[in-house]
Amino acid sequence: MTFFSRCCAALAFLGGAVVPHPALTAQMPSDPTAALLVELIRVNTSNPPGNEGAIAELLAPRFRALGFEVEIIPTPQPGKAHFIARLRGSGARRPVLLAAHADVVGVEREKWTVDPFAGVVKDGYVFGRGALDFKGGMAVFARAVMLLAERRIPLDRDVIFLAEADEEGALPYSTSWLATNHWPAIDAEFALNEGGWIIKRPDGRVRYVSISTADKTTFGVVLTARGTSTHSSMPRPDNAIYTLARALARLSNHETAVTLTPSTRQFFRVLAKTSEGELARSFRDLTGSDPQRVRRADRVISKDPLLHAIMRTTFAPVLMNAGFRGNVIPGSAEATVNVRGIPGTDVNAVLAEIRRVIADSTVDVRVAQTPQAPVPVSPDTTALYRALETEARAQYPGAEETPYLFQAGTDAAAWRMRGVPVYGIYPYAIDAEDLTRMHGNDERIAIASLRDGTEMIYRTLVRVAGRPQ
Ligand SMILES: [Zn+2]
Repeated sequence: MTFFSRCCAALAFLGGAVVPHPALTAQMPSDPTAALLVELIRVNTSNPPGNEGAIAELLAPRFRALGFEVEIIPTPQPGKAHFIARLRGSGARRPVLLAAHADVVGVEREKWTVDPFAGVVKDGYVFGRGALDFKGGMAVFARAVMLLAERRIPLDRDVIFLAEADEEGALPYSTSWLATNHWPAIDAEFALNEGGWIIKRPDGRVRYVSISTADKTTFGVVLTARGTSTHSSMPRPDNAIYTLARALARLSNHETAVTLTPSTRQFFRVLAKTSEGELARSFRDLTGSDPQRVRRADRVISKDPLLHAIMRTTFAPVLMNAGFRGNVIPGSAEATVNVRGIPGTDVNAVLAEIRRVIADSTVDVRVAQTPQAPVPVSPDTTALYRALETEARAQYPGAEETPYLFQAGTDAAAWRMRGVPVYGIYPYAIDAEDLTRMHGNDERIAIASLRDGTEMIYRTLVRVAGRPQ
């Protein structure tokens, strides 16, 4: 056995590259945020199991050395922990919190051209699982709050950094668990989290900065068709599988109405200003009042699945269940449809719409489980939102800024449900190509984007938490 294979075996045993591979330390970037990101990527926190406790162990000594109060909150699952570092201010105002999830989604290893857990630095980028979502953001948030301590900025409020567990999926020890069991540790006036985007044009200049103030809601709807259960040699017209298939086919041909929230309206206005030609016209028409133009604009814009999703409530069948053996026609067939709602969507109205579209009273339509209570939208008028907006404009001159409805869910509800506004941003400039790599292959982030993002978040914190001079 050579040294190399022994070393790799040891790394595998540790469940992640907690011990840096000697050959890799040579390429550590000089930018402190990029260097921290490399270290974070080398701790494999693919969830399951997550192993987020290893991130807490990595971060704790760095924060302690800078005078932060550090708390590692273990969960009932071994190896899984939340990490909290608090930099004390005078207490004149309530804390500001920066939250970043420490877990990542798994990889299709054979589709990567680099080791996803080595933190490879190449062509001005850091590559690795989590580079964008969200270890890059964690590195930016961590370095920004560390700079406050390193530069001894007098603070009027505590600044809390949180590295959280169990974000990637509906998992038991997420921020909801943390909020239920350890609320005083993460209570704040407002918070930053993942969410909006800093999108670059092909020439590298930033086109717009979007800050998410709400996430779409989600719940499941179960369609159940019933028929006669009998021998498959004697089929009858009331076959449950056919009935269900007809209902789903009608749903697939249905498009929900365009529903623009105030933030989405502003987002599309910004896209109109920063686009050209037919697209710019379509973005303008979408926010106008002519129903015919709105419909035409919808058809053009909806070719982009992300834009299609943020302007309406969407339905997507995700699970089917029917039959149990090859020679029996089952008595029932069931499909679960995942609904992603514009905030404020009425569950009963959605059920009524689905019933109307499938137009078959023999198909039962009901909610899969009690949906979560409505999550308040965070106002774009707080000191934190204003500070981030101001610093985004300063960091990316000429770029537009807009609030944004995040198309998926994040762990922000744990705070928003308790009245704490949360603003989401992936705090680095990326282009459309970078974005396709998120949860995909060869995920990467530009070192220059990490540097600029750290500056922006640091100055935002000075503005919102620093003692006025
Ligand atoms: Zn994420």
